[in-house]
Amino acid sequence: MDAQQVKELAKSLGADLVGIASAKTLNAFPPDPLWPQTPELISKSCKSVIVVASRIPVAAFRAKSGVVVQYMDMLVLRRMDKIAYRIADALEKEGHPSFVTAAQETDWDFKHASYGRLSTRHMGIEAGLGTFGLEVNILTPEFGPRIYLTGILTDLELEPDRIMTEQVCIGESCSRCLHSCPTDAVKHFGIDKRKCAEAAQEFGFMTSLATWERFIDGDTEQKKEAIRSRDIYGLWQGLLRVVGSFGDCPRCLAVCPVGNDYHAHLSSEQKVIPEKTPEKVARGKAFKQARKDGDEIDGLNQWNRRWVGPDGYQGMVARQMQEFKKQQAQRASENKFKREPEDIS
Ligand code: SF4
Ligand code: SF4
Repeated sequence: MDAQQVKELAKSLGADLVGIASAKTLNAFPPDPLWPQTPELISKSCKSVIVVASRIPVAAFRAKSGVVVQYMDMLVLRRMDKIAYRIADALEKEGHPSFVTAAQETDWDFKHASYGRLSTRHMGIEAGLGTFGLEVNILTPEFGPRIYLTGILTDLELEPDRIMTEQVCIGESCSRCLHSCPTDAVKHFGIDKRKCAEAAQEFGFMTSLATWERFIDGDTEQKKEAIRSRDIYGLWQGLLRVVGSFGDCPRCLAVCPVGNDYHAHLSSEQKVIPEKTPEKVARGKAFKQARKDGDEIDGLNQWNRRWVGPDGYQGMVARQMQEFKKQQAQRASENKFKREPEDIS
């Protein structure tokens, strides 16, 4: 199988996006050189990583409760894992050892936060699928940040895709993700993972730990109280349906104006950001000024620029929106044309 055939297979199995990164490049550019998340640490024989993306259905971001997104996240992940498994299986049957990485893995030895053995965001960018947003999610031109990614590590040498050099994220002048963040976790092309976890992993690992510690240390009355607390219910629900343990906060995904899914179904719903405050707006403006002044910004240092898009923002979202509106107008006129005979009769 060559790269084209692998991509056709992935699409035929239902992948929304697919790209290929060379293991050599991923080994040469670890997200954080101090804590390398590279294929060579998993398997020396891996030559290529096939990156598959599945979109999160946009209706979830129109729901009143975040639980809808959390449940959809789980279904998307299950479906994506099946697609990836079938690709790995097909490659092995052709004689190329291949396996799928865990998309939502956390290895506690990496910085004691939610980092896996590989960073799927970085893999996706190296496979040419998108670039970093201000909140360091991967933004794809097609679906913005509303996707999940996984990787198939294979011994087969495949033609890799080119990394994008144009920044997909509108950047500091947009800052909508920053405005929407309930815990103020969005930094300047960076994220405070612990703050994000307060909303995004309400019943994640840290909450479980704290709950059980409180239980162990408590007296009989406190133990009884702990057992009846909302935390225990949250942990039970997390075990049962994953709801509550990751991806709880949909806000920065919902408000990001990148992608035709946003133009089609979210732009009116998400136009107003209730969480926006003068302080957040001022922070976005300060980010913009700092970049203009050429200040030292961690998220935009020489190493990280590779994933932000070294050529900067060149109007990709505006171009896409114009094209989308043109197509919408065309569809509307075609439908009108189709309806006219019925009207006459
Ligand atoms: S909301 Fe705006 S600033 Fe944030 S990631 Fe999306 S395009 Fe970038
Ligand atoms: S997931 Fe929620 S808490 Fe985390 S950065 Fe996005 S908006 Fe903020």
